[in-house]
Amino acid sequence: MEALPTRKLCSTINDCKQTAATNCEGCSQSFCTKHFLEHRHLLSEEMNVIISEHSHLQHTFKQSIECDLHPFVKQIDEWEKESIVKIQQKAEKLRQELFQLISIRNNEILSILQQLSEDLNENRKNDNFIEMDLQQWKITLENLKTKLDSSSTTFSFDIHDDLPLVQNISIIFTIENELFEKVFDNIVQIKQYGQVAIHDTSYNYTEVRGKNEYTTGHHKIRLYIEQSADKWTFLGITSKSILLQKQSTNSKSSYGWANNNYFLLNGECQLNRSSPRIEMKTNDIITLIFDCDNHKIFMINERTNTKYELIVNINHCPFPWQFHVNLYEANSCIRILSA
Ligand SMILES: [Zn+2]
Ligand SMILES: [Zn+2]
Repeated sequence: MEALPTRKLCSTINDCKQTAATNCEGCSQSFCTKHFLEHRHLLSEEMNVIISEHSHLQHTFKQSIECDLHPFVKQIDEWEKESIVKIQQKAEKLRQELFQLISIRNNEILSILQQLSEDLNENRKNDNFIEMDLQQWKITLENLKTKLDSSSTTFSFDIHDDLPLVQNISIIFTIENELFEKVFDNIVQIKQYGQVAIHDTSYNYTEVRGKNEYTTGHHKIRLYIEQSADKWTFLGITSKSILLQKQSTNSKSSYGWANNNYFLLNGECQLNRSSPRIEMKTNDIITLIFDCDNHKIFMINERTNTKYELIVNINHCPFPWQFHVNLYEANSCIRILSA
């Protein structure tokens, strides 16, 4: 005789002795009707929490767009005010200096004119002059004319390029919101709004590209290696001008590191001869740093606590740079974490 299937009990934590009537596909637990409805109700409540968190986040985000509340706006305003005050103070000081110098010059001319007029009057009255005196007075008058000419070289501007009155500032923009955006072919799928890149079950090279463009400043991307078999996973950069390719690391613009202990420099794949090995194992967290200003990229493995550095030749890899991944292994998977 065939054995009857054993009676399965409801698996709710409330010690229910009822026979299980249905199975939840999501968590593989069996429930009686009453507790199945309760189970669904709990899941709905969790869903409601997620929806309300989402709308709260959306609201906060919209508010932040509406008003210019970025802390930098305040700093720029302060810099503007301080700079204007410095310029106004300097201009006032220069004006006062100029008025003083003009008044000194005017007094000088006035005094010469007075002396000269006394001289001339006196000597004419007494008819006391000869050619030599006339010549002297002519020279004195000529000199005075030159002094009165405002375009003369009495005053000039001295410009100090080396000592700026106002500090020149610029914003170093750090992009930390990288996402996967493009793939060469459908061997790799981009999932979860660009946060995950996952290779199919074949062994084939293909390129994945990030959405951002890096031209100036210092940028960080944190990655979680969800799946890797230590054969070939490449992380690094390439120039935006290079089209996506299957074997993208063959391009001269490719700079970065592969988990089989190779690095890519000036278009050449080179074995890492220094220790420790370049590793990107399953569950490793990798940070990539793009230092555009100094033409350098860095890779940090948080587990091994090692940092690798590459100097980028801008002729080979012109700006803007892009985050560049090349996957090969079956099921290999990388997730972008928030930095
Ligand atoms: Zn369930
Ligand atoms: Zn039950």
